[in-house]
Amino acid sequence: MAEDRQRSDNERTPDFATRLIHFGSEIDRTTGAASFPIYQTSTFHHFDLEHPPVHDYTRSGNPTRQALEDYIATLEGGARGFAFASGMAAISAACFLLSAGDHLICTEDVYGGTYRLLTTILSRMNIETTFVDMTDLEQVKAALRPNTKAVFLETPSNPTLKITDIRAVAGWAKENGLLTMLDNTFMTPYHQRPIELGIDIVLHSATKFLGGHSDVLAGLAVAATDELGVRLKQIQNGLGNVLGVQDSWLLIRGMKTLQARMEAHERSARTLASWLAAHPEIARVYYPGLSDHPGREIQEAQSRGYGAVVSFDVGSGERARRLLGRVKLPLVAVSLGAVESILSYPAMMSHAAMPPEVRAERGITDGLLRYSVGLEAVDDLIADLEQALR
Ligand SMILES: *Cc1c(COP(=O)(O)O)cnc(C)c1O
Repeated sequence: MAEDRQRSDNERTPDFATRLIHFGSEIDRTTGAASFPIYQTSTFHHFDLEHPPVHDYTRSGNPTRQALEDYIATLEGGARGFAFASGMAAISAACFLLSAGDHLICTEDVYGGTYRLLTTILSRMNIETTFVDMTDLEQVKAALRPNTKAVFLETPSNPTLKITDIRAVAGWAKENGLLTMLDNTFMTPYHQRPIELGIDIVLHSATKFLGGHSDVLAGLAVAATDELGVRLKQIQNGLGNVLGVQDSWLLIRGMKTLQARMEAHERSARTLASWLAAHPEIARVYYPGLSDHPGREIQEAQSRGYGAVVSFDVGSGERARRLLGRVKLPLVAVSLGAVESILSYPAMMSHAAMPPEVRAERGITDGLLRYSVGLEAVDDLIADLEQALR
């Protein structure tokens, strides 16, 4: 029966939307259940010592987590996927591919938690990082040292949505024998598939768009090749920072609607960005879909769209705080990528630890707000912002 449903070789490869639903573990092979079972177990019985079970202990492997790991590998077009307890757990695990004495080149406006990991933890392991403006390939090249082993990219960047040319950086890295890792949280594999552009390891905070409902903390990693997959597997098992089985199931549940959500999120984000750009009270809008965005052409060449995060500057900290106190629809919170809109204030939330002069240099002013556009009617989101700005 199961075999009847397998595709033969000459059938067309299904589109992304179809792969999201028919990802291989969508039906339980034992009972036909329409949802993959939660194998809530820590260990597995050896029926026969000569033929040990596929999974023997849940840290090393569990069928529910495996279903999720195969799912993200399929979506990103990689060889193997891995699920971790958080986005930071996935990023830390990937960084453990480096050794003491190695040097890393990283996007300067990388996610705050990644910055903290590199500058306060990996630095103690004698792994050094140079932060560069990765939208400028010359700066990336200038950072190369004899002990450089890897490049860490994040595009679009946070919160000012700068765009890095993934093909260009990955191509240069390959010529120099460097490993490339990319945080694809903002785009998801629906909008951007870095492995197809030459990246070795794709990383996600699945807490955001992949989970999509502000109810699960999770991280995912995808290795482009089996060889890298074997190395990451050893690190995942060795560190033990795996995703629990209930959360693995919840993430599978959320991911099935990824395309439907991303399309709706993005449609509204485009409308909101254009409305903000035309608004006299708004000093500046950052969104890669706007015609005056400096990275728009590169974004269009490497991605299927612009995503659902829009940043804008209301001119001063006082005005930003007033707006945050008056909005009625979005959550005022850190995080992003959920069904509900989330409005963040980088200067006092995600980037509070950054010295004010560094923040100013990067455009993270006291008037900057970051809007993760949810699934509410965009006209209601606009009306809400309009009354809050008045
Ligand atoms: C949230 C986030 C992370 C960290 O993920 P957690 O799940 O919170 O550990 C990493 N990168 C980006 C771009 C993020 O937005």
